[in-house]
Amino acid sequence: MTTRPQNAHQTRLLELLRDGGPRSRAELGDLVHMSRSKVAVELDRLAELGLIQNAGLAASRGGRRSGIVSLSPSLRFVGIDIGATSIAVAVTDGELRVLGKLQEPCDVRQGPDAVLGLALTLVAKLRDQGLLPQIHGVGLGVPGPVSFREGVPVVPPIMPGWDRYPVREALGRELGCPVQVDNDVNIMAVGEQHAGSARSVDDFLFIKIGTGIGCGIVVDGSVYRGASGSAGDIGHIRVAASGPTCACGNVGCLEAFFSGAALKRHATSAARSGQSPYLAARLAEAGKVRVEDVAQAMMAGDAAAMRLVRAGGERVGQVLASLVSFFNPGLIVLGGSVPSLLGHPLLAEIRSVVYRQSLPLATGNLPIVLSELSDSAGVIGATRGISDHVFSAP
Ligand SMILES: [Zn+2]
Repeated sequence: MTTRPQNAHQTRLLELLRDGGPRSRAELGDLVHMSRSKVAVELDRLAELGLIQNAGLAASRGGRRSGIVSLSPSLRFVGIDIGATSIAVAVTDGELRVLGKLQEPCDVRQGPDAVLGLALTLVAKLRDQGLLPQIHGVGLGVPGPVSFREGVPVVPPIMPGWDRYPVREALGRELGCPVQVDNDVNIMAVGEQHAGSARSVDDFLFIKIGTGIGCGIVVDGSVYRGASGSAGDIGHIRVAASGPTCACGNVGCLEAFFSGAALKRHATSAARSGQSPYLAARLAEAGKVRVEDVAQAMMAGDAAAMRLVRAGGERVGQVLASLVSFFNPGLIVLGGSVPSLLGHPLLAEIRSVVYRQSLPLATGNLPIVLSELSDSAGVIGATRGISDHVFSAP
């Protein structure tokens, strides 16, 4: 049974220690606007609960030296980021610093038993490394819509066998701690907000371009999930009346034109048709073309690869321009494997389309940037979400 604080003051103190590291009792009292004696009562209670510890004395501010407190060094959170084709599991301390992380290829279509089984195996490996004396909470993201309240995926288009599977309950039973289940793009947005490009930004969009495309929407500091948990499913916005068939069964979806999967398909045809000698050589050598190969072809000056990236950036940019007019974000962060591999050429194309097509009032102060946390955004966001839960009073 995980210990949780008893009131909102204790929650605030835990959040300050999580987000700002160890602080003196005097400083904490100032930050929560409480007298030294009142703050001492709450801190002593948190120490009794094993959530914080005393950590020496602060430098004198004149008069008696104030004691420093920190979160308990034994606090541990686990973040699990399940994508369409990979899984990452990380352990953090109470301040959400990653102490260890394992990542493996994994096809989510294998279903919940196999995929959650692999997640538990990776957790056990991290435990064998001595990183998990105990677990205070687990946050997990899956590549599809989720009922956040119930902790179950809901009609996820690319996850056969997962519809309404009791993920939270199953993992909670196995690991004996609170579990929070969210959409993979939402947890990445929260990760960027906690420790990446979106620190101190309250209204922003996080665009994940991986196998598919999704959007995390942060409004007034919190993730907006929509009435049934599918807000931000922008990969299936229809951008053309005809075109390739999407994984969802419709025609003309954004992600059928540009996503990791679509880019690999287009790059393979560029290799086969003789438009790209560079990609043709990669295809002949490896039997397939990866997004990495497109990035390298582009760097080597391959015109066909450059055209694919520009065409993709333009499609994404057009959808983002509409979203900017609708939502007026303060920041757009691009994350996931495709932007992290293609980098600035893709970013430049998207920026130019958004700035050209949106109204100046909405884009006057709108940075569009790459994710700072790259493939750690998801696991850090997942632990941030569950730590908010564990640090709140029941
Ligand atoms: Zn679709």
